[in-house]
Amino acid sequence: MKTVVITGGATGIGLAIAECFLSNRWQVMITSRNIDRLTQVIEELSKRYGDDLIDCFQADVSNEADVIGLQKKTNERFGKADVIVNNAGIAVWKHVHEMEVNDWDKIFNTNVRGSFLVSKAFLPEMMEAHRGAIVHISSVSGLCGDYGMTAYNASKAAIVNMTRSMALSYGKYGIRVNCVAPGPTNTSMFPQELKKVFSKNSPLERIVEPDEVAKAVFFMATDVSSAITGETIPVTAGFEISTGQPKMID
Ligand code: NAD
Repeated sequence: MKTVVITGGATGIGLAIAECFLSNRWQVMITSRNIDRLTQVIEELSKRYGDDLIDCFQADVSNEADVIGLQKKTNERFGKADVIVNNAGIAVWKHVHEMEVNDWDKIFNTNVRGSFLVSKAFLPEMMEAHRGAIVHISSVSGLCGDYGMTAYNASKAAIVNMTRSMALSYGKYGIRVNCVAPGPTNTSMFPQELKKVFSKNSPLERIVEPDEVAKAVFFMATDVSSAITGETIPVTAGFEISTGQPKMID
């Protein structure tokens, strides 16, 4: 049986990813900072999928000791990890001149340092096994710019290039490293009051559902995508594909 570790797996996209792997009978280790939320989610998921497939560990991904604890707990409970999904992330809307240095650091510590620390902790066992897959979660905001989101844009763009660089380094160990870049997705991170406005910018006239991101992650994590590495798949409902030219004909 295969094992996946999902950071930020107790809510939104991370939870949808956990459910996708569980329904495919993978062993799933989820991590989050909030132990109450983790306990509640584990209880719910255990009822639906059985408690032999799911476990959790409280960890802040930006804290090295927590991440080492996560790796140890995963090994004890399920053995070596086959797949890591670096999903934990935060966003802040602030212009550069108004942003506190702490806020900038918090975004980079979670989105970039966290993905680095978790990858660093699990790579040695994947290298030894000569197999594995890492899926980073970037964003459409890592591919294009947003008004007032410089820190988030920069951190998510870093993830896209980290993906390429890691794919180059670890291909010789049979490890693939890929990235999924969601567009506006229906989770608590997304401002619900803006759903209609965002939908207008999608050719499908809607935003993305978390399970649609999860399916792309599952594709990137499994052998169906065995020749794909270093790539980023946008899952955006086409949100970013337009030049911005207005409709010239009906
Ligand atoms: P969310 O807020 O539900 O999920 C983020 C998760 O990360 C939460 O469970 C949170 O507890 C966890 N987290 C945050 N900081 C952490 C830390 N330091 N250590 C451990 N866990 C931490 O939002 P979501 O929409 O599900 O976001 C998941 C990922 O998808 C994020 O990386 C986000 O940037 C990305 N994303 C979201 C959208 C969107 O519109 N919702 C769009 C593009 C990309």
